[in-house]
Amino acid sequence: MRILIADDDLLSLRILNDYINSWGYEVILCRNGDEAWAVLEQENRPNIAILDWMMPGLEGVQICERLRKMNPSRYVYVILLTARSKTEDVIKGLDSGADDYIIKPFHPEELKYRLRIGERIIELEQRIISMASTDYLTGLLNRRAFMERLEAEINRAQRGYNHLGIIIADLDHFKDINDRYGHQVGDRVLQDASRCLTSACRVYDFVGRYGGEEFIICLPGANINETCNIAERMRNMLREQRTVLADNTEVGVTASFGIADMSSGSAMSSDDLIKKADDALYQAKGKGRNQVVIADSK
Ligand code: GH3
Ligand code: MG
Ligand code: MG
Repeated sequence: MRILIADDDLLSLRILNDYINSWGYEVILCRNGDEAWAVLEQENRPNIAILDWMMPGLEGVQICERLRKMNPSRYVYVILLTARSKTEDVIKGLDSGADDYIIKPFHPEELKYRLRIGERIIELEQRIISMASTDYLTGLLNRRAFMERLEAEINRAQRGYNHLGIIIADLDHFKDINDRYGHQVGDRVLQDASRCLTSACRVYDFVGRYGGEEFIICLPGANINETCNIAERMRNMLREQRTVLADNTEVGVTASFGIADMSSGSAMSSDDLIKKADDALYQAKGKGRNQVVIADSK
């Protein structure tokens, strides 16, 4: 975990640095409030900040207020570290949005355990984010999280004039599996299919559960040929896979795939792209299933 320390007193900064380093944290040192804000403004900001109250430029309390107003997607846990010990100061500090307040001179062990509290809060937040973006049954990204990442990838591709491929896969006659073997077996087949699709991907591709037995895959940088190759790989791997039941019955499944790509310099939206892949999937179903259909290039 990365911790920012801001203090204009260089001796204080060095002592803090030595302690916090020795407790296994990565430290970012700032000699005044402006330096600290420049770091906290960045997208890859540290998770915890220890701010001195009185510093030239921005003061600790002001940084805290700005941070809470900005409300970044990942929380920053703030500890105010200051010689101001009056109750009204403590109240003002906490009211600015600080999570904790430590009065100098402080005991290093106390700081260590207060940092642990911050670490626990940050870890809880990370767990909540991960739970909120994961599909419970398959462990894949859920639809909302997938769409968020897709939007970001489309923006990136458009800025960099790159291709981007999309695959929508729908299991064939999946209802029959549920009807024949029961819903629990259906769930296991879905889990096995998810693993299969994921293992056919490249490392920078990502897979989401789009609906019940529908999956969606984003392939950053892939043109339509590369997307088609990966979809074929998925189709073949899935076709050969078996879910083995307790009585050794083997259950197999196939899927139909619709694929589309966004060519470099295109201004397509995520909805356009998905619509194209979805139309192609519909055609794959109509043509007899267990096949890959490429969207019309328009
Ligand atoms: P097609 O080839 O046309 O796609 O036929 P299909 O049977 O796969 O499609 P249909 O949309 O008729 O049925 C999808 C089935 O998927 C119905 C639904 O009960 C099942 N299903 C959706 N989500 C889950 C799930 O989480 N677990 C299980 N076991 N079944 C699910
Ligand atoms: Mg289906
Ligand atoms: Mg379906």
